[in-house]
Amino acid sequence: MAKYVFVTGGVVSSLGKGITAASLGVLLKKRGLRVSIIKLDPYLNVDAGTMNPFQHGEVFVTDDGAETDLDLGHYERFIDESLSANNNVTTGKIYSSVIAKERRGDYLGGTVQVIPHITNEIQERILRAGEKSDIVIAEIGGTVGDIEGQPFLEAIRQMSSRVGRENVLYCHVTLVPWLEAARELKTKPTQHSVQELRRIGILPQILVCRSHYAIEEEMRDKMALFCNVPPEAVIQALDEPTIYKVPLSLYEQKFDLLVLKGLSLESPREPDLSDWRRVVDGFCSPAGAVDIVMVGKYINHKDAYLSVVEALHHAGIHHDVKVNIRSVEAEEIEEHGSEKILSGAHGILVPGGFGSRGIEGKIAAARFARERKIPYLGLCLGMQVAVVEFARHVCSLPGAHSSEMDPGCANPVIHLMEEQMRVEDMGGTMRLGTYPCELVPGTKTASAYGVARVNERHRHRYEFNNDYRKRLEEKGMVIAGVYEEKNLVEIVELQDHPWFVGVQFHPEFRSRPVKPHPVFMGFIGAAVQRSQSD
Ligand code: GLN
Repeated sequence: MAKYVFVTGGVVSSLGKGITAASLGVLLKKRGLRVSIIKLDPYLNVDAGTMNPFQHGEVFVTDDGAETDLDLGHYERFIDESLSANNNVTTGKIYSSVIAKERRGDYLGGTVQVIPHITNEIQERILRAGEKSDIVIAEIGGTVGDIEGQPFLEAIRQMSSRVGRENVLYCHVTLVPWLEAARELKTKPTQHSVQELRRIGILPQILVCRSHYAIEEEMRDKMALFCNVPPEAVIQALDEPTIYKVPLSLYEQKFDLLVLKGLSLESPREPDLSDWRRVVDGFCSPAGAVDIVMVGKYINHKDAYLSVVEALHHAGIHHDVKVNIRSVEAEEIEEHGSEKILSGAHGILVPGGFGSRGIEGKIAAARFARERKIPYLGLCLGMQVAVVEFARHVCSLPGAHSSEMDPGCANPVIHLMEEQMRVEDMGGTMRLGTYPCELVPGTKTASAYGVARVNERHRHRYEFNNDYRKRLEEKGMVIAGVYEEKNLVEIVELQDHPWFVGVQFHPEFRSRPVKPHPVFMGFIGAAVQRSQSD
């Protein structure tokens, strides 16, 4: 039977609970345990698919096409495993299923209530996550004290009687702020949030304290005393130069051993963290640097392109360079021109996006990269704008001038297929999740991957229009990858260009620090060459 670690957060949001949970996952997995990890999100959305990246950061897509919270991206990057829709549970999902059961009459006329029906449903999902693992790490989104979070906290409280006290462990991530006026770290917020947890019957056994400065022994003892944990169970989580250092620093403080002890578990072996140390060393002492301009439209939210940013860093570590990422609004290019905004870039990246705002700026960025022979990587929408740009300026196709990229799209080169238009009203038009792609031998992408066939994740409506394929190819666009079953173009490249690649999928979701993605490695490799010829 699986054992369960619950990770809650106190005081403020954005404490890095996801990174803490993911880091614990790394350490336990490296110890030879089978780890499963699940995010419980108290918001009412059924999934993150409808959430605006401005507000909530990136939507992470899994192999099975689930649109999930970005923390699942951290989990995958850290524990190096593919997760699924079952690894992200939201209030919306829980209520939908309880209400469906009620309509079917499954509750036999009983009154359906938050306790026990909602809380049971939550527990079922947690138990399901543990069917094939030794340990389930379950992170509860939000902050202790939030109204929405209460059923989740109640559910995890009940888990201890359901599966046995010795099989659950509660870990609370909290903030220890620095008060400038008093020139000291403050423990009171932590005490209060632990009290809040105790009030609802959860006794945290480990505290992970986020702070800017090292927590002195005296302070640690004080928190231990007030929060009723042994001093060694007060772990400090300082700001690190890279999130990939967190597993190492938690390991130094024996966080994983504390968890094992709390669950009376033996681990098959000591963890070998050498690959993680190489990642951290590579990140902290690069030999050179490249400047990448990312042309987006949600640039004010630091997490809107999280997986893209991480994938760039992974590739940078591999090439022993620091990747300086300058994010620019596509509309700035429309306003000030490509030269002013993009010159000096060693590489230009246009990430995914929705809607038509900023499209012209992105098309201009692709043109600038093509004409100046600057390495270019277009992801999803970034591939589509590159195709439109080529059709317009190289092939002079008249219809390619529309910048419409949303339903009702008038751009013929990147279009909605007929079968999609028919299902439009049902909302089933998105191509989501993993699809196979055959690579064309001799292309840059095929040599970057080094294999004949890949599986990549998708999240888009529009497709390359095959009616134009021949005309684009005649002028030097290379089709480098195709989803053969449906004859869909997945990868385009340019001849006579050092590295100009557009992919219809999202390779960023499969990049891991210890296994950088080949497409990103190819792109950064080309950017390094460009920087050396400057
Ligand atoms: N808006 C485009 C489409 O739906 C691109 C989507 C994306 O970049 N993820 O096809």
